[in-house]
Amino acid sequence: MNGIQKGNESPFQSERNGYCRNRATASGKAKLSMHEVGIMQSALDMAQEKTRAAGGTKIHRILLRVGTLSGVVPDALRFAYEGLRGETLACDANLEIEEIPVKCWCQICELEFSPGQAPFECPRCHETSGQLRQGNELELTSLEIS
Ligand SMILES: [Zn+2]
Repeated sequence: MNGIQKGNESPFQSERNGYCRNRATASGKAKLSMHEVGIMQSALDMAQEKTRAAGGTKIHRILLRVGTLSGVVPDALRFAYEGLRGETLACDANLEIEEIPVKCWCQICELEFSPGQAPFECPRCHETSGQLRQGNELELTSLEIS
């Protein structure tokens, strides 16, 4: 699941036309968040870097993992992507965002739980959990390229 999956090795290698220039840019109707634009730009930069490093010329699929505590709004990320992908190797790629819910771990009860609002307290002993197991993610988890 993780890492770069390189599909369709040779048939596409000669196709070095690279960028698509016919993509419409984002219409500006939805809310444009500079926070998500910056994050999406970094993710695209990273995706292109990895693609080039692997000898690819085209990105088909990008999978991002976004925790609910990461401070990033998936819809805003998708919108930013629409505006940014036009001049990139990802111009025809599908962006998939996996939203990761918050999970905490109580060391006293040795219990994993999904908390509601912060502070996150254990449903059994009502101690505030010091351990966040997941929910902070903001990472590029998978790429499909050729
Ligand atoms: Zn507990």
